[in-house]
Amino acid sequence: MTCYQINQTRLEIVQGDITNQAVDAIVNAANTSLLGGGGVDGAIHRAAGPELLEECQTLHGCKTGEAKITRGYHLPAKHVIHAVGPIYGTQDAPVLLASAYSNSLQIAGEHHLASVAFPAISTGIYGYPMREAARISLRAVLTYLENHTTIKIVRFILFTSEANAIYREELESIAAKNDAINPCE
Ligand code: ADP
Repeated sequence: MTCYQINQTRLEIVQGDITNQAVDAIVNAANTSLLGGGGVDGAIHRAAGPELLEECQTLHGCKTGEAKITRGYHLPAKHVIHAVGPIYGTQDAPVLLASAYSNSLQIAGEHHLASVAFPAISTGIYGYPMREAARISLRAVLTYLENHTTIKIVRFILFTSEANAIYREELESIAAKNDAINPCE
């Protein structure tokens, strides 16, 4: 595990399966329908059980770059924050990907959640190259954490060792240039 401290928050990079995370909220890489899909979305719905889809059906979708919260049902996580990332390749994709992260943290803060775990949104079916997504998502999360202090743990859960290595390298490179981001004790 890689861990950096920024203000009161631990930012952790871990290889694993997000459906196993016992945190206040896991973030889902959802689509605008919020009615389930493949990849991490499918895995989260399978692990949470059919009650999750029932609650999602009451939400009437979600715009790209935004997020909505539900309960976690049979997941070890208490809540699911359904964030919609962009499909790679459009001009506004970087801004929308950053918004998906910052809006998820905003919702976590509003619900007084202490721990949040993110997957690498948009890097599967939506085609984002892992390194570009890592840079954008880490910058978005770090910018948010530089200005807000209520969330204690933000964890990136990377499904593969390659993705884990890319996220670790990008975080180390950002931390090397920023005095406010230091290795955890
Ligand atoms: P998107 O449509 O936003 O691209 P995907 O679910 O296709 O979403 O992929 C997003 C990322 O989630 C990919 O890097 C994929 O490897 C990863 N992923 C898939 N299953 C899991 C899981 N159970 N836990 C964590 N990450 C996962």
